[in-house]
Amino acid sequence: MKGSRLVAAAALAALVVAFFAFGGNKYLTFESIKSQQTAIQALYERNPMSTAIAFFAAYVAVTGLSLPGAAVMTLVAGAIFGLLWGTLLVSFASSIGATLAFLVSRFLLRDWVQKRFGRQLGALNAGVEKEGALYLFTLRLIPAVPFFVINLAMGLTPIRARTFYWVSQLGMFAGTVVYVNAGTQLAAIQSLSGILSPGLIGAFVLLGLFPLLAARIVNAVKARRVYARWTRPAKFERNLVVIGAGSAGLVTALIGAAVKAKVTLVEKHKMGGDCLNTGCVPSKALIRSAKFVAQARKSQELGIKSASIEFDFADIMERVQRVVKTIEPHDSAERYAGLGVECVQGEAKIVSPWVVEVTGADGKKQTLTTRAIAIAAGARPFVPPIPGLAEMGCLTSDNIWDIRKLPARLVVLGGGPIGSELTQAFARLGSKVTQVEMLPRVLIREDPEISAMVMKKFIAEGVDVRVNHKAKEFRVESGQKVLICEHQGQDVRIEFDEVLCAVGRIANTKGYGLEELGIPTTKARTVETNEFLQTLYPNIYACGDVAGPFQFTHTAAHQAWYAAVNALFGTFRKFRADYSVIPWATFTDPEVARVGLNETEAKEKGIAYEVSVYGIDELDRAIADETAHGVVKVLTVPGKDRILGVTIAGEHAGDLIAEFVAAMRHGLGLNRILGTIHIYPTLAEANKYAAGVWKKAHAPQGLLRQVEKFHAWRRG
Ligand SMILES: Cc1cc2nc3c(=O)[nH]c(=O)nc-3n(C[C@H](O)[C@H](O)[C@H](O)COP(=O)(O)OP(=O)(O)OC[C@H]3O[C@@H](n4cnc5c(N)ncnc54)[C@H](O)[C@@H]3O)c2cc1C
Repeated sequence: MKGSRLVAAAALAALVVAFFAFGGNKYLTFESIKSQQTAIQALYERNPMSTAIAFFAAYVAVTGLSLPGAAVMTLVAGAIFGLLWGTLLVSFASSIGATLAFLVSRFLLRDWVQKRFGRQLGALNAGVEKEGALYLFTLRLIPAVPFFVINLAMGLTPIRARTFYWVSQLGMFAGTVVYVNAGTQLAAIQSLSGILSPGLIGAFVLLGLFPLLAARIVNAVKARRVYARWTRPAKFERNLVVIGAGSAGLVTALIGAAVKAKVTLVEKHKMGGDCLNTGCVPSKALIRSAKFVAQARKSQELGIKSASIEFDFADIMERVQRVVKTIEPHDSAERYAGLGVECVQGEAKIVSPWVVEVTGADGKKQTLTTRAIAIAAGARPFVPPIPGLAEMGCLTSDNIWDIRKLPARLVVLGGGPIGSELTQAFARLGSKVTQVEMLPRVLIREDPEISAMVMKKFIAEGVDVRVNHKAKEFRVESGQKVLICEHQGQDVRIEFDEVLCAVGRIANTKGYGLEELGIPTTKARTVETNEFLQTLYPNIYACGDVAGPFQFTHTAAHQAWYAAVNALFGTFRKFRADYSVIPWATFTDPEVARVGLNETEAKEKGIAYEVSVYGIDELDRAIADETAHGVVKVLTVPGKDRILGVTIAGEHAGDLIAEFVAAMRHGLGLNRILGTIHIYPTLAEANKYAAGVWKKAHAPQGLLRQVEKFHAWRRG
């Protein structure tokens, strides 16, 4: 705790101690007040103004310091100032006092609490930011939670002090009137508990629930209003129509069919979407071939004097297609039809919240009526408007799989996962690759030293990595393609034969009815959904790349479950999409895998952490395999066995991380990983050793010193 906070905490503690030491708690009891009523009344009659000011200040102090006695003081207010002035005094004094307590809690504890429990509090913080005033109002009206607890707890949340003040004043008003009014009859009251009859408490509860109920009704009315201009079919032919048969759409349709709903899956291009046809599958197949080439070139590391390799790039690209073809049946219309999904080939367009029109390749139209729609239209490569690029044309992750001639000099625009994976693969296959990234490092989402490991390897393998280079213009000069970049205020020329644009992917949100229905998109240009993956129209859902915020096959499939279940059963129960433990990997060499927080994010979010790092260069199996490089880096809550996040860089990092993903998902700590038998010699042992690094750092040094003495004593 900072010095100023320590001083404030000490001063507050001193005031609280003084209150009890001088018997303040004894004065502020119902019995004491009743016995003093005549004296207080007389004091007020002698000095009305100063009594009112003193009372006001005392009330603020009691509530501000969260001391017991506010209820009794409210009665006193009624007894001596009457209903009107008593209510006014208490209403302002209690709100000011509550806000002071709120500010004290915020000043002393919020940073600490958010740092320590920020991740767990994420959903609460988001909820308070969105609907904090409503919840506070409800809490204030329902007298079940003591007010001082609300003051202190709210101080730890992101609610604004101004909002806290006015909502508190409004919310406490009804209760204040009841107590002040009771105070006007103080002589007749026998106990504090008698003031709130069960009937009155019931009325407060109803009053408290009213705003929540009202909010729900407003939402329902809003939802109805968006449907107002559409005619709802009398009945539906289907329960669910899914637009797009990529990772998200396939899983949505499959879940729907598995629970016996009538589901139609519409795909305008290829079943399997990006992942199968132009994404994960072909890229991983290409990376495998390129890795073999790289390994053969390093045969001496394995004691093999020389290994000659001869290949034709076109054969490698044909193999890539063979892999796609082999996996194709898994995502085929035939397979899905067998699983109970109706598959329709054609371009879907949402023409009303319950009607999807499908245009087949022959131009024939089909109209499908449905209770719910799931948009899973995916994303496409973003080609930035850099002068000259459109005229020159570029390769993207969509069309690069069609080339059969290896580009001699390839510029890769983009240092993200796709750009980095393809940079290394093409460099290993023999292209002279220049990777251009405008940010200071590649894989910017990862920690700097992880990016540095990848960049070091790229450079060692002959890639010309140009970070801090902003692509400005593409030109053709005397038949030579040239990229002009800006680097530290200077223009830099890069000559090349082909350019691969991998600067990000943009959601497909146009041309299939979103505009006509007025379904909004986000700043990130994805379809806007709520936490249940509902769009503006509660029966239209979106999942996968089109909805974001992630762009992975496994997150698309994860969201698909929520979209399908909420679309089919949301009338009874809806589930919030859970993004608490999301892993991913970039399949470069070294492979980089992550789950949860890394150091960079923990710092940005102000979350306290400890780091345990195990260097894979020490791992027996990695040494035997000549893959002794990389790290397992685990972030934990300081002093606690709770994993905040893990980054693994090294061979098979994407596989190794699974153990930590399971641990985080199921709340297991590093002690559990350490207590698990890992087969020797495997790369997976790296996880156990990382847990060991953490354990060693937390060994009880004092106890060990005593044990050392004990052993010395036993030796005699
Ligand atoms: C090169 C590359 C490598 C990748 N590597 C990985 C990886 O290793 N791991 C990973 O997890 N992710 C990877 N990804 C990302 C992954 O491919 C995507 O996140 C995933 O495919 C998203 O699935 P989706 O269903 O949301 O969208 P998509 O797969 O894009 O599917 C959307 C489908 O909707 C169809 N569609 C669109 N509009 C209509 C319409 N109006 N009517 C009918 N059909 C329509 C499209 O034709 C498409 O088939 C990679 C991506 C690329 C480009």
